[in-house]
Amino acid sequence: MSVLVVNSGSSSVKFQLVDPVSGESLASGLVEQIGESEGRVVLEYGGSEIENRREIPDHGVGLAVAFEMLEASGVELRSEVTAVGHRVVHGGEVFYRPTLIDDDVLQQISDLSALAPLHNPPNVLGIEVAREQLPDVSHVAVFDTAFFHGLPAAAATYAIDRDVAKAHGIRRYGFHGTSHEYVSQQVTRFLGREGLNQIVLHLGNGASASAIRSGVPIDTSMGLTPLEGLVMGTRSGDIDPGVVMHLKRSAGMDVDAIDQLLNRASGLKGLAGVNDFRVLGRNIENGDADAKLAYDVYIHRLRKYIGSYMVLLGRLDTITFTAGVGENAAGVRADALANLEGFGIEVDAERNAVRSREPRIVSTDASTVTVLVVPTNEELAIAQATEQVTL
Ligand code: AMP
Repeated sequence: MSVLVVNSGSSSVKFQLVDPVSGESLASGLVEQIGESEGRVVLEYGGSEIENRREIPDHGVGLAVAFEMLEASGVELRSEVTAVGHRVVHGGEVFYRPTLIDDDVLQQISDLSALAPLHNPPNVLGIEVAREQLPDVSHVAVFDTAFFHGLPAAAATYAIDRDVAKAHGIRRYGFHGTSHEYVSQQVTRFLGREGLNQIVLHLGNGASASAIRSGVPIDTSMGLTPLEGLVMGTRSGDIDPGVVMHLKRSAGMDVDAIDQLLNRASGLKGLAGVNDFRVLGRNIENGDADAKLAYDVYIHRLRKYIGSYMVLLGRLDTITFTAGVGENAAGVRADALANLEGFGIEVDAERNAVRSREPRIVSTDASTVTVLVVPTNEELAIAQATEQVTL
């Protein structure tokens, strides 16, 4: 018995078959380059990887091919899968817990597309095609915004005209919620301590920080959209909103061009031409000054958020790094927390250098704030949430 987790993007669909009880990933795969002349479906099952290259005109065909490959590998999809969990980016003010999908719910997710034009439409498409392929099981939407739904008003409110904000749903929603919730719960479990004041740093291609008091988030770095906050692979994070007006008035850019610039051609990519931290690191070693500046801007922003969340929390117990960069880039962890001994934060160089897929402490025994690395697992969190709803 397993839950199929589906994460549908504009030209790709990621999926994973998860046992929500043991946490085991039974199979996983990726459909990509949907709509291009040659698409690709990759399936990992039983320790081997199978690839299929062919034209994939749309999401429906992509998922059908992936399911055929799974069945050919011996997975009895239609009898083994008990439910399908869908990652949905924006739940707006409407959805704040995992929700069983029916036609009404699907319509409401679609209606929220104005708030997430890049994300919700492909999420809806993924749900539609998966419901067609697996019509006899429950489908559940798990929202990236849900964990932050109850943010304190002071953290959720932008200081703009209240009527305009109300009319257009403008508030801070926060994203990566499934990861922040999962990782903060893992920290509580790993340390065996309740009531922790935590900072969680989800540093992947997208990046976000959260401040969590006793399991309840009190602030997070992403806002109306996943563009606000930290410097990311291709997103600017925080900028003066005046930049948008300036680009429109002085550079003659329209809103789509500015959207493209800030979401896809900024961040590390905009500053240094690359969005992969591994390449950035190599370029810094080779003396690339742009790469060094990009890294410095990234770390500077991260330290600003850590500092502000320490003050918001008042007392800080843990700082946890997760996601691709957070889990793997020891140098980022060291630099983000350098020279903070006066605040009770001390990273242990030897512990920090250890590579592992397990949760671990990387601070010294003398550090009053415990610094951890905890691998995130959004698929497992979605599978477990899905199972809860369908019990
Ligand atoms: P994610 O979005 O969580 O999958 O993270 C993806 C990012 O993690 C990639 O773009 C890389 O920049 C980064 N990453 C993955 N592995 C490493 C590594 N070994 N060292 C540094 N960065 C890494």
